[in-house]
Amino acid sequence: MFETIIKGGRVLDPATGHDGIADIAVNRGKIVAIDKNLSAKQGKKIVDAKGHLVLPGLIDTHGHIFEHVSGEFGLNPDAVGVYSGVTSVCDQGGPSPLTVGGFKKFIAEPARTDVRCFLSSYLAGGLYGHKYVDLYGPVGIDVGAIEQSYAENPDLICGLKIHAEPGGYSRWGMKSLKKAKKASKATGLPLYIHLGTLWPEKNGKAVDVKKLVKEIVPLLGEGDILAHPFTRHDGGFVSRGKVHPVLLEAVNRGIKLDVGRGSHFSYENAVAVMEAGIIPDTLGADLHGYNARAESAYNVNGQFRPEEEPAEVDDSVPFSPTFSLVHCMAEMMAIGIPLAQVVAMVTSNASAMMGKSDSMGSLQPGRTADISILKMTSGRYTFADGAGVNFRGTRRFTPVTTMRKGRLYEPVSDLLPAWIRQAA
Ligand SMILES: [Zn+2]
Repeated sequence: MFETIIKGGRVLDPATGHDGIADIAVNRGKIVAIDKNLSAKQGKKIVDAKGHLVLPGLIDTHGHIFEHVSGEFGLNPDAVGVYSGVTSVCDQGGPSPLTVGGFKKFIAEPARTDVRCFLSSYLAGGLYGHKYVDLYGPVGIDVGAIEQSYAENPDLICGLKIHAEPGGYSRWGMKSLKKAKKASKATGLPLYIHLGTLWPEKNGKAVDVKKLVKEIVPLLGEGDILAHPFTRHDGGFVSRGKVHPVLLEAVNRGIKLDVGRGSHFSYENAVAVMEAGIIPDTLGADLHGYNARAESAYNVNGQFRPEEEPAEVDDSVPFSPTFSLVHCMAEMMAIGIPLAQVVAMVTSNASAMMGKSDSMGSLQPGRTADISILKMTSGRYTFADGAGVNFRGTRRFTPVTTMRKGRLYEPVSDLLPAWIRQAA
């Protein structure tokens, strides 16, 4: 007898290569069997997944969930996580060596979602979305403190977050990145590097972005991650429609890319990156309190939240609520990434980036029962990028039910559009 059987769905797991109709049996929070035809009589509870995708629990590699500590910037972990169809969320640079203890006790432990983080390299952490630039110079990085934090929290901390962008470069050159790399070497943790303008340049003097990019790449090693390859901001991957050759070379050297969708996402630059033959490894929605407001019909960065399910071909209504990870998955398909690869971006590739391939991102007997069930629909959908530029896609995903450690959660997050929440 099994506690739960997820029955009749299309089980798609890039880690094992499985793609086909199957049933999954779950007992005591673990997957115990994956089989073509488990009898419904064997299950106390049956989840009908017919016609749906059954995926390894989705992993958002870039979230901001240090709620109450990082100001309005920090969202509720379960709103980004289990109530939005996502079983694991990795906070990017919220907690620091000074605050990781609080992050563990007040965010990670009470959350129903599996919470991990890339520790901020800066002692200040990601307070108010890194609003106060002077807190983020090399003086504010303590390699020993980072080593100690990791020694105390080896499961929670999966890597280190740092920035390499024009504002910081105009003040301190590569000093912060070099210090963070020292910490990365000492701990064996990968670096996650934010690309694209974040802070204003010192005295308003523009820096040479090409020079900046040229100086970043040699400092990086295999497994380090460059974020925001589709950014619409300066100092990113694409300038004048062309991918920087140094960055192409970096990708060939084994440096990973995380989309970090956020408000950075530019459709035009995404197409340019794809045309250069580069597909990012992981997705990362980069949701935070400044780009995803839960309360009402905000219009943020050209996006808004329709209160009703939009008509399929109504071009005047871009399907872009305050976005979510599954929304970003549909956008990835719209720019030409095939389904199995999009799923890998939020499952197997995500767990690899976090050094957790042996425990996360795959559906196998003995693994924790973290499973995302999604409805995939076909139609003609209009999306809007971070600048409000519309583009077309033909697939859309809606979370149906999410299993985390064997427990089921409905898609009722305030970050999802009302028509999804009301159907739940
Ligand atoms: Zn971010």
